Amino acid sequence: MYEDLKDKVAIITGAGSEYGIGQGIARRLSQEGAHVVLSDLQPANSPDRPDEESYLHTVVKEIEASGGRALALYADVTKNDQILAMVEQTKKAFGRIDILINNAGAFPGANTTEDMEERAWDITVDVSAKGAFLCSKAVIPYLKELDGGGRIVNIASIAGKTGFPTYGPYCAAKGALILLTQTMARELGGQAITVNAVCPGNVDTLMGRKEAEIIAKEQGIGLEEAMLVLGEEAALGRMAVPEDIANVVTYLCSNQASFITGQSINVCGGIEFH
Ligand code: NAD
Repeated sequence: MYEDLKDKVAIITGAGSEYGIGQGIARRLSQEGAHVVLSDLQPANSPDRPDEESYLHTVVKEIEASGGRALALYADVTKNDQILAMVEQTKKAFGRIDILINNAGAFPGANTTEDMEERAWDITVDVSAKGAFLCSKAVIPYLKELDGGGRIVNIASIAGKTGFPTYGPYCAAKGALILLTQTMARELGGQAITVNAVCPGNVDTLMGRKEAEIIAKEQGIGLEEAMLVLGEEAALGRMAVPEDIANVVTYLCSNQASFITGQSINVCGGIEFH
């Protein structure tokens, strides 16, 4: 559908979660012929979870089995040395970098500002905001090497546009990411590099289920019922699936979106409208 994405090279952070948005984006970009680097935290090296069992490798094998090119690389997006190594290995493996998807995110749990632990703030803001900053900083020189058309897509949230009680660090982190998106769009527009954010609402992933668990506890209902409650928040009456987000990200990476930059596009089924 987007022929210009063939042989483009994309790095997707936070792509190691089963059913996660990151793996969905990697699969979707690969369907368009892009070469994808799936990146995530290194799993703890314990005998019951050996390296090969990382979900990153499962996706890589599936993409390769269907004729695509993919690579799994571990990098903590809050650690600059690991990011630089990931970017260098990508360049070495594929010769170029066209697309960066800052997808890694953390949600250590809900609490009021009064009761939220300082550590929850640090993790949430470090992964979403600082992580996107450091990864973008490392990739921008490679995007500038291209003959125009580099892409950065940040996975923010509707929680970055409107505050939600008990979500202070998460809202602050995603709000920061939206403004970083606008800033980088203005800085890089002269090189025809676009920078956009996608703002999901409630997505059926491990993180989405964590949110459903909070609702289940609050309302004394089961997890599946809580997922329906989250779905009903949307005008379209359901939670998103990773493909819903991946479709919009893929469009933003394509030439068809070459005149869109600095935008924060809601993909929430109609919960947020600005
Ligand atoms: P997920 O928890 O399934 O995936 C997040 C991934 O980020 C995990 O694989 C995790 O290991 C990785 N990660 C965490 N810290 C990291 C670090 N320091 N370095 C590298 N990777 C790290 O969640 P998801 O729903 O797939 O979330 C993907 C993105 O979408 C996140 O940025 C999240 O905030 C955002 N989002 C999700 C929802 C939702 O309802 N699920 C809604 C809005 C926005």
